[in-house]
Amino acid sequence: MPVTLFISDLHLCPTRPPIVRLFQDFLTRQARQADALYILGDLFEYWAGDDSLGDDFNAAICAGLSTLSDQGTRVLFIAGNRDFLADAGFAQASGATLLAEPTLADIAGMPTLLMHGDALCSDDATYQEFRREVRSTAWRSGFLAQPLAERKEQIEALRRKSEDAKQIKPAAVMDANASTVAEVLRRHGYPRLIHGHTHRPAHHIHAVDGHVCDRWVLGDWYGNGNYLRCDESGCHYVNLPAQ
Ligand code: MN
Repeated sequence: MPVTLFISDLHLCPTRPPIVRLFQDFLTRQARQADALYILGDLFEYWAGDDSLGDDFNAAICAGLSTLSDQGTRVLFIAGNRDFLADAGFAQASGATLLAEPTLADIAGMPTLLMHGDALCSDDATYQEFRREVRSTAWRSGFLAQPLAERKEQIEALRRKSEDAKQIKPAAVMDANASTVAEVLRRHGYPRLIHGHTHRPAHHIHAVDGHVCDRWVLGDWYGNGNYLRCDESGCHYVNLPAQ
């Protein structure tokens, strides 16, 4: 029976070594036993461009993924708001297949829509405007034309600004909007939906136009490692043992 695992929002960075060890360990154990591993964004705290593969930290993460894919687990990647600049160089180094957002996939016989999830947070108008800007080809090529050190500095500044903004935004504004979820489900033929981004792991059930759709929200890796495991019998959350 094919087994598919889903993770997102690990926010891997050199300043959180225990989570990095947990992730590398996950790649050699649970992920190794699975047929496919889907990474639904924000694997990295940030990705400044594929030339940041020169950093030992990023190279080691990609090497771990590459070993996994060489050993027979398919690795698929949908970018998040932190790592949307991951491109062909990242794919090459990690053995991951980059997927468009959203992607409608057959997961153990069930049509399943996969996305990072930030696009669902439509109550946050300021963020959606920012998202449209940075996802444009013009912004992307302008940004990537700058030296790597400068890009990293700009990202750090943006992160500080976004942390400040989060302090004053009501929590509900940063969650998925129910009518946007319904609209997405309708547009894609009422599939099962799996996404991350909100760091609010939960299994929701949406009734849309007489169809009943499951929505699984993935957890982050701040407290402990965790993943969603799906096979023909359905999906369930699994927590990795604390290290
Ligand atoms: Mn995110």
